Amino acid sequence: MFAFDMHVHTCLSPCGELDMHPAAMVQAAAAAGLDGFVVCDHNAADNVAATGRAARRAGIVALPGMEITTEEEVHLVALLPDVAAAGVLHARVAAALTGPNAPAAFGRQVIVNEDAEVLGFNPSLLAGATNWPVERAVDEIHRAGGLAVAAHIDRERFGLVGQLGFVPPGLLLDAVEISAATPFGEGRRRYADPLGLEAVTGSDAHEPAALGRAVTYLHLDRADALELRRAIKTEDGRAVLGGGRPMEDLALHVLDIAQNGAEAGATRVAIRVDEDPAANRLSIAVQDNGRGMDCAAVARATDPFFTTRRTRSVGLGLALLRQAAEAAGGHVTVDSEPGVGTSVTATFELRHLDRAPLGDVETTVLVLLASHPDLDLEWTHRRGRHDYSLSAADLRAALGGAALASPQGLALVRAAVRQGEAQLAANDRQDSREGSDD
Ligand SMILES: [Zn+2]
Ligand SMILES: [Zn+2]
Repeated sequence: MFAFDMHVHTCLSPCGELDMHPAAMVQAAAAAGLDGFVVCDHNAADNVAATGRAARRAGIVALPGMEITTEEEVHLVALLPDVAAAGVLHARVAAALTGPNAPAAFGRQVIVNEDAEVLGFNPSLLAGATNWPVERAVDEIHRAGGLAVAAHIDRERFGLVGQLGFVPPGLLLDAVEISAATPFGEGRRRYADPLGLEAVTGSDAHEPAALGRAVTYLHLDRADALELRRAIKTEDGRAVLGGGRPMEDLALHVLDIAQNGAEAGATRVAIRVDEDPAANRLSIAVQDNGRGMDCAAVARATDPFFTTRRTRSVGLGLALLRQAAEAAGGHVTVDSEPGVGTSVTATFELRHLDRAPLGDVETTVLVLLASHPDLDLEWTHRRGRHDYSLSAADLRAALGGAALASPQGLALVRAAVRQGEAQLAANDRQDSREGSDD
């Protein structure tokens, strides 16, 4: 599994902070546990190559991209195959921009190298729009060899739907991007599924601290532009597994805890998410048969001032799960025995104003099974009187020999979670109708 922030600005962008230079961005990305990110400056690509070099020094990747503003003020992200393609698109876009920058109004558009040395300033009005209608911009992206993604499609301002009111029929988009403002699963169901496209997410960071705030999880062989392209086109077994906000979404905390268990030798993990509206309670339990911990290790694991992991791209581990639970009138209990396993239970007041969002459980299940295809996962999601369960063993049996991490396997897992979640949502609607009939 690879974790990518799909939308990051540098100090070239008129709204970008000056401290958003390649070396600082790469450091922030590595600290957030990312395998890579996509450089998406407004209407220019001057800093793509230097950011790529800075990333390689740090053992991660910064892939070439650009955020193009169309004539209708729609933002489109171009995911580009290489620096040369970014240069081609950069020149095309420069000719389609409407005037020179006014640094006093929009700020300087700083071109830097990987050592944070200023090389110059981009003279064009990058804060403005190109004279390309959205169809033309998509076509130009494709001609440059790139993929066209509707940027932050859930956002009113500069989003495709917000600006136009609809997705133009026949527009040859390759994916849609859900912003960090919308829960990933909700955005995917609303915008990507009806178009039959993959959804991705990114932070749209303009300052280093925001890098990794929203992350896309990808099933790839390597972290590079070609593999990313294959995943978005669902080719050759590559796949977009999901996404979310690692600092916020409980589903990603759960994923992190389960993954820690699997990495600590667990062969079996049982996850149970129980939403009980009548009792105003959400409880999440993760149980594994891994190495387990002694009392001292449990105390350290739940202490926010002590963490054994240097970086995390999914969730924040037990310490921050505990903080999230306590902030929402709940608590975390950890039962662990060396050599036997660990059981973590977190409870929350379901309707507490400070309860973190559940997030996208489809991402949790898919990333877990794609990363650990031999894991015996038992997954249960209950809401009120209804629930559904999945077991990796049943899914494997249904596949008749194909691996869970294969395209058929991932498709089956995805379909099973979607069916279960859809059934829970349908039961909810049914229950609320019956409730209102009384
Ligand atoms: Zn934008
Ligand atoms: Zn942006």
